[in-house]
Amino acid sequence: MAILIRNARVLTLDDHDTEHPRVDILVRGTTIAAVGPQLPVSPDEPDLRVIEAEGLLAMPGLVNGHVHSPGSFLKGALEDLPLELFMLYQVPPFSDTPPDPRLTYVRTMLGILEMLKLGVTTVHDDPYYVPAPIPEAIDGLMRAYADSGMRATVTLDQPNVVEYEKYPFLPDLLPEPLRRRMAEAPRMNARELLALYRHLVGRWHGACGGRLRAAVSCSAPQRVTVDYFEGLAELSRRHDLPFDLHVLETKLQRVLGEVKYGKSLVRYVADLGLLDERMVVIHAVWVDEADMELLARAGSSVAHNPVCNLKLGSGLMPFRRLREHGINVCLGSDEAASDDTANMWGVAKLAALVHRITDPEYERWPTAPEVLRALIRGGARAMRMDRTVGVLAPGYDADLILLDLNTLAFTPLNDLRRQLVFCETGTSVVLTMVAGRVVAERGRVLTVDEEAIKAEARALLPAYREELARTANAARELMPHYGEMYRRAAAHDVGFTRWAEAAGR
Ligand SMILES: [Zn+2]
Repeated sequence: MAILIRNARVLTLDDHDTEHPRVDILVRGTTIAAVGPQLPVSPDEPDLRVIEAEGLLAMPGLVNGHVHSPGSFLKGALEDLPLELFMLYQVPPFSDTPPDPRLTYVRTMLGILEMLKLGVTTVHDDPYYVPAPIPEAIDGLMRAYADSGMRATVTLDQPNVVEYEKYPFLPDLLPEPLRRRMAEAPRMNARELLALYRHLVGRWHGACGGRLRAAVSCSAPQRVTVDYFEGLAELSRRHDLPFDLHVLETKLQRVLGEVKYGKSLVRYVADLGLLDERMVVIHAVWVDEADMELLARAGSSVAHNPVCNLKLGSGLMPFRRLREHGINVCLGSDEAASDDTANMWGVAKLAALVHRITDPEYERWPTAPEVLRALIRGGARAMRMDRTVGVLAPGYDADLILLDLNTLAFTPLNDLRRQLVFCETGTSVVLTMVAGRVVAERGRVLTVDEEAIKAEARALLPAYREELARTANAARELMPHYGEMYRRAAAHDVGFTRWAEAAGR
């Protein structure tokens, strides 16, 4: 099977930021075979599809560098809460209903459908399972990626310490019955969790011609036992897998580092000898200069989720300082409970704009071309795919999108990169290709019956709502104690701030 895209304007995103005003793209099998003017391809070649792309832009597909697919059933569902209170609904500490493999499939597919239509071809998914993963649910999630044609790198995000150990002050704030209930809640040990990873890696790593890959995740360093953390690091090294960890997303986590470990959580990971170039440090909002030096020295990447950080009031990641340290930054939507979309165009626009409120020096503001590269090549690099994904050039995987330049977002066309970041919302995307296969075209996903998935999602909703109501009841009981913990941490002096506090006073 070959596809010839004829007469497209092409943004390659290669190292020289090459742009071709009018060229053909030849895709053979899963890769880009050639890019150039009037490629000598016989239209009589068997199994050749020709796509006339006059007036269209071809560019590498977008990369969602951090998402939790289980949140896809929670869009718009939660009140405005900071992370630690929000998580009582997202990953409730007292749930005992095992994950439903079909629900896992359907909600993963909801996110996939949204992303493919918007031109996202690759996703780095860090799914959590409440109360714990089971192989059938892992398979349900992975099958959604297999069926859809999307490229995905997927972890198991599963903490294994007692709930109150993840937080500062909480052990003292909780009444004894709640504390005991948390201590007695079932938890998986390192051996059990690593067995689930053996299932994920053995069954799915490299599946679908390499389109699906495994990564590891400790969720966050304070949420796992050291033996499990070290087991994950060993797995990451052995298979060269990206290693996800949420670090210093909130001020409360900075305070936790101080009161529990006597150091920042970045330093804690570094002192365990685990900080390396495979690490994808998610958020990195409350990092200080010493933390950034450690991340830069290790060659770790940072996943920036500006919409989520604003929604949960976490603060502003020091974008320019991280870049000045030479740290690779990718972009993520985080999840539909905290974005509440998977629209990476919106994430890119906010990433380009939000850091301006912290810095009057306009030369240091993120630029549109810089954000575009973080969005696509930064994501590919964090997933350790930068030699095959993120550039539209021969030899790379054929993950590309076509955008209609006749839409209002590009009329008149003044500056392509700025208009991609500031004007485009995803409505100009007319075709999405992953690994040489057209998976979405003219607003329709071709690999999945969208209407059937949506109908099934609605059918699953009543039972899900019942579970959510039980979660809300449990959260109400915990809320006063978590609220007090949050307020204490917010008032704690950590020597700097990542909130734009001056504007609010
Ligand atoms: Zn996250």
